[in-house]
Amino acid sequence: MTPHPYELLGVERVLNAADTITSLGGGPLDPRVLASMAAAATAYVDMTDYLARAGAHLAERIGVPDALVTNSAVSGVALAVAAAIAGDTPAAVDAAPAHRTDRTEVVVLCAQRNPYDRAVGIGGGRIVTAGYSDGTTRWQVEAEIGPRTAALLWYAGTQFEHYALGLADMVAIAEASGLPVIVDAAAQVPPVTNLRRYVDDGAAAVAFSGGKGLRGPQDTALLVGGDLVGVARAHAFPHYGIGRGMKVSKEGVAGLVTAVGLALDADDDADYAALLARCLAWGDALAGLPGVRTSTVPDGVLGQHTPRLRVDLDPGLGDGLQLAARLRAGRPAVVVRTEETVPGAVFLNPFPLPPEDDELVVDALRTALAGLAG
Ligand SMILES: *Cc1c(COP(=O)(O)O)cnc(C)c1O
Repeated sequence: MTPHPYELLGVERVLNAADTITSLGGGPLDPRVLASMAAAATAYVDMTDYLARAGAHLAERIGVPDALVTNSAVSGVALAVAAAIAGDTPAAVDAAPAHRTDRTEVVVLCAQRNPYDRAVGIGGGRIVTAGYSDGTTRWQVEAEIGPRTAALLWYAGTQFEHYALGLADMVAIAEASGLPVIVDAAAQVPPVTNLRRYVDDGAAAVAFSGGKGLRGPQDTALLVGGDLVGVARAHAFPHYGIGRGMKVSKEGVAGLVTAVGLALDADDDADYAALLARCLAWGDALAGLPGVRTSTVPDGVLGQHTPRLRVDLDPGLGDGLQLAARLRAGRPAVVVRTEETVPGAVFLNPFPLPPEDDELVVDALRTALAGLAG
């Protein structure tokens, strides 16, 4: 028997009861996803043909004109940006990201700036911000559009949508100038219906992580949309464009195709009910502990359709940060979410955690709370 790779390397597993956090690795994969990856691993394949067929299959299943498998949502946005700037002639693909044009500006709302927007630069674009951090008007966006504008980039998710213009306004502004709107919706599943929603709402290309709510291999992602996705394909692996380093494996493609199929076939309402039942069971397991109150929150921190358990502490016991630190330092380590605006609480999310680990999380919570009580 080969040793477990974590044991071989002396690293410890982490129980993720927080969110689909990329820096904790992807979530545990469904056995059917793993089986499809193992099957794909047994033979060589023509990657260009395989990727084209995977894209066509996914587009049809999702109900969008086109889909491209890439290795990350960041890559998806970068490829869409390169496509919007360069088009798909061989010379333009070859030149990217040092584009042979001045039309490289991508409008990003000031209220939405975030660490993932460096995808614009990877695609050879230059960010031009519009609006303020605490508010955005249509004329502020319109004022940034000119002959150098290649695209508008919009972020889906609750924390990005405060103070930002909505997608409908962005699409209307873009359409008036014949420009595409690229959407980063990396974490916006569930619900799985979001896979087509932003395209239906007029986005030209929309990026989703494969390893977040889709529960696919972590080093996969989807870019869905219309013609712009086809142009992005010319820049993507296995072609010699900016996407050559954004390699996807034949195993990853298989895993993502299977994971998306499972997500589309799942019963969202039943899944939500099962997650909520786990939240309530966690709450019940903590009931009666002095200084601890629990309640449920209807959605995820980015607005995902996933319930969470909120655990409030009496100030005499400690605050959310202290509890989270104790859980993180425990064995096994448990990661929960804290929110700056709610310092007296931690938030637990059953979505990324396999149900068989629920008991471990409850035990860890009891131990950490007992530690705080001294
Ligand atoms: C997680 C996330 C990303 C990164 O997704 P990858 O697939 O890891 O590239 C990009 N944008 C947003 C908004 C995210 O939440």
